[in-house]
Amino acid sequence: MSKTCLCRYCGKFFNSPVERTCCNDCQKIEEEEFDRIKDYLKRYPNSNAIQIAEGLEISPFDIIRFIDEGRLYVNRGEFKTIGGDKK
Ligand SMILES: [Zn+2]
Repeated sequence: MSKTCLCRYCGKFFNSPVERTCCNDCQKIEEEEFDRIKDYLKRYPNSNAIQIAEGLEISPFDIIRFIDEGRLYVNRGEFKTIGGDKK
């Protein structure tokens, strides 16, 4: 059974065996966005979601989504990325 998911980048509906917020076409955009967040956190390790969003000109909701997906981790207001990124 596959689920119908909505891509947050292109707004396209697609089927996936697991709940996802990004279609295959936009996977690259998502990875680039995540890389930019990681770079930003390297430069400014104590940033909060709003500061990252403003610094990178992306939506704070995108950052919150990465947290929900377990890819970003917040410790006492400090963001960290979870190691072992999928290649
Ligand atoms: Zn898409």
